[in-house]
Amino acid sequence: MIYTAEAKSLKQLRDELKRDEARQAQLIAEQRAKQKKIDAAESEIANLASEINSKENKVTESRKKIRQLESDIKEKRGEIDNLLSFLQISNGENLYLEYVFEAKTFSDFIYRSAVVEQLTQYNNDLINDMYEKIENNKVLQVQLKEEINSSEKAIESLEKVLKKYGLDMSDLASDQKDIKADIRARKVEIAEYERVYKENNCKEDQEITECVDVPPAGQFVRPLQKGTITSVYGMRYHPTRHVYTMHNGVDIGGNGTGTSVYAAAAGRVNKIVNRSSCGGNMVYIQHTVSGTKYRTVYMHLHTMNVKVGDIVTANTVIGTVGGGESYDRCSTGAHLHFGLLKGWEGSTYYNPANYVKLPGKGGRFTGRY
Ligand SMILES: [Zn+2]
Repeated sequence: MIYTAEAKSLKQLRDELKRDEARQAQLIAEQRAKQKKIDAAESEIANLASEINSKENKVTESRKKIRQLESDIKEKRGEIDNLLSFLQISNGENLYLEYVFEAKTFSDFIYRSAVVEQLTQYNNDLINDMYEKIENNKVLQVQLKEEINSSEKAIESLEKVLKKYGLDMSDLASDQKDIKADIRARKVEIAEYERVYKENNCKEDQEITECVDVPPAGQFVRPLQKGTITSVYGMRYHPTRHVYTMHNGVDIGGNGTGTSVYAAAAGRVNKIVNRSSCGGNMVYIQHTVSGTKYRTVYMHLHTMNVKVGDIVTANTVIGTVGGGESYDRCSTGAHLHFGLLKGWEGSTYYNPANYVKLPGKGGRFTGRY
């Protein structure tokens, strides 16, 4: 994932380190740019939310206004009813009043009737005016609700964007974490090569294979005393990332956290990565097996018992099984991920089952041979 070509000399390793550092700087710039986008989307959501809030307050106010208007209308209606019943009492329907009170009563009636009509008319106008206001408020409420709705939709789509940005950020953070871990590992690896090169009077453009001593071995053996193959080498549906990816090794379960992990052959520890986001603690060992140069890698280690430059045998406990503590995003339970590469700085993975006697998926083994 980090190297693309095999570095053959100390100088080439240094160049690779520089490329890693450039990539790290680029990742930091990407993170900053994405953070700016996140901040902008968040402040837009905050603005929309406060707009929604003030519009909802307006809707509440408008509802209150309608209720007030309706009660005012009721009141005015009551006044009109009172006036009309008063008019009816004074009205000619009750004919005998005319007779009893004659002209005086009649002119009084006319006067009263005119006043009542005027007041009724006035109140009717008021009521109509209030109905109009109620209608206007209803229109306003519809309009506000539409605006609230479209703001809510805008927030929804911004939140989707934010969710995606969040995932991007977590990927960037993982990449950043990994490259940081890799740079740190690379620096230790280079420092150890520098020491060995100096000791062996090598120039920095000389090949690593000429300047570094790795004890030869006759064969690879299993890195664990027992186990069950939970995942084989090849394309697979990733258990935690939910995408099809290449699985660059063999997963061996059936051992609890803390179980001893051995080197698959005699060799030299060439690289140690601490807490990669996908792989956790990793130990790389260089070998020469039957004259061919390889590296084996042991991932998700709970503890690591070796350091860069250590010479190991197939009986050296290099670390212990981990992967069950969920500190790395590519593991769901305690297991050893065992990988095999060709060359001492190679980046191409091969199926370990072709080099170490291992059963197929679901198969169990006991013993190291
Ligand atoms: Zn694995």
